[in-house]
Amino acid sequence: MELAVIVVGAGTAGMPCAITLAEHGVQVAVLEKADNVGGALHLSAGQMSAAGSRLQRSKGIEDSPEHHLADVMRLGHGKADPAIVRLAVEEAGASIDWLEELGFPFPDDQPIIYYGHDPYTRARTYWGVELGISVLNTVQPRFEELVAEGSIDLRLGHRLTDLLVEDGRVVGVRAETTDGTVELRSEAVVLTTGGYAANRALFDRLHPGLHVLLGARETSQGEGLLAAQRIGAGFRGAEHHLSTVGGIETELGQGTSNLWEALGNTNANNRVAREIYVNPAGRRYVAEDEPSQDVQERALQAEGGLIWFVFDETAIDEDEPLVMGWSAEMLREQAAAGEGAWVADGIAELARRAGIDPAGLERTVGEWNAACAAGSDPLGRKALDHPIRTGPFYAVRSEGITVISFGGVTVDGELRVTREGGAAIPGLYAAGEVIGAGATMGDGFCSGMCVTPAISLGRLLGRRLAAQVGAAPMLAE
Ligand SMILES: Cc1cc2nc3c(=O)[nH]c(=O)nc-3n(C[C@H](O)[C@H](O)[C@H](O)COP(=O)(O)OP(=O)(O)OC[C@H]3O[C@@H](n4cnc5c(N)ncnc54)[C@H](O)[C@@H]3O)c2cc1C
Repeated sequence: MELAVIVVGAGTAGMPCAITLAEHGVQVAVLEKADNVGGALHLSAGQMSAAGSRLQRSKGIEDSPEHHLADVMRLGHGKADPAIVRLAVEEAGASIDWLEELGFPFPDDQPIIYYGHDPYTRARTYWGVELGISVLNTVQPRFEELVAEGSIDLRLGHRLTDLLVEDGRVVGVRAETTDGTVELRSEAVVLTTGGYAANRALFDRLHPGLHVLLGARETSQGEGLLAAQRIGAGFRGAEHHLSTVGGIETELGQGTSNLWEALGNTNANNRVAREIYVNPAGRRYVAEDEPSQDVQERALQAEGGLIWFVFDETAIDEDEPLVMGWSAEMLREQAAAGEGAWVADGIAELARRAGIDPAGLERTVGEWNAACAAGSDPLGRKALDHPIRTGPFYAVRSEGITVISFGGVTVDGELRVTREGGAAIPGLYAAGEVIGAGATMGDGFCSGMCVTPAISLGRLLGRRLAAQVGAAPMLAE
């Protein structure tokens, strides 16, 4: 019997979903707009988190999905969707086991407690040496095996434009290809099209006035979300948006950043700040050695997202650079050229060049130097051994950066896409970032809580749909 599911998007969630469907004997077509599979995994750090994996147990780490759920709800300030997080964390251990079976190269020391975000209470974070590419290199061979044997009908270069609806039910999709428009019909459609954190217009509409550099893969345009909204799907979670601190614009004037090329190292767990951080008024707003990334992120957001790192010549250290990806020589060159960094012999001139209020910056530097001399900072910073006194003086412009989108389509506990009132849209399902990172993380960062839920909910949906689409037919163009 031929059963039909269309999975839209061959990325982190879509590939595991399609693999699971195919392994259960379901006829599945995968539509992918790009000319390759993998989605965000090409760029992602690929960190995952899971309680109860074989690997974690073998290390004698006591953990459970309950603990993971509690940590996520705490770190996300109670804003994550507990039903979705529960589904994700209960499946996460099995996802890690699955990756292990497929040969994922787990480093010996994992899982660990990761301090790049505010930490979990247990060691449950994992990633491969090649980051997201390690996940891709593990999943893609199995996916391609199923494509090669005809169990998955992969259609690259197919961009979903619309969901087809008949009598209130999603019955297929319309897609653009280089040869024109095609319509495909199926019993169920799964949206795994990822987020919208590369879509400037959409982002700015949702977050007017906020300075955010977009750092997602260019495929993350929110097209699946928008197609679902056009047929009445609900939307939630954008209000949970939180930018990461330290964004450096890598293509000047474009509002984008590749964090692997340049990122301010503001994490006090890795590096003690030798700079002060100031807003456009030249005012400090946070203790720069504040160890909680969450506190730093919220403080930045409250300032509107645009800051400068200000420091003097003595703060430049080749071994511990402020901007990861910039050598001291690069920093000096960029500053001399005025390309996102500036240098001057005086503080007021530096401020004028960088676009900071000169009087405000002069006042702040004076206060900062006095705090260093007194050994006490009104903002509570403990590292007071870098007064800003020895010219030349430097400023590096930084904005919040986002690699993910917090908003997404509303889904119920069955991962059915729902309308605003909560009723499920028959035939339409979603997993991955299209449901919004806010659903799985709330309004904070929880290590691994995008990649792992994408894989886990993709697989879970694959199993559930395989059980449901048992009776009806066809995939027809
Ligand atoms: C730099 C960076 C670092 C990150 N680090 C981490 C991390 O360490 N841990 C973590 O948990 N998360 C991390 N994330 C986020 C995480 O990688 C993503 O949330 C997750 O991979 C998204 O999976 P997905 O399946 O929803 O989307 P994707 O993997 O992006 O897949 C979506 C696919 O759908 C396709 N598509 C989109 N629109 C259409 C359309 N209209 N028609 C057809 N196909 C379409 C895309 O081309 C893509 O292939 C990071 C992201 C980035 C960018």
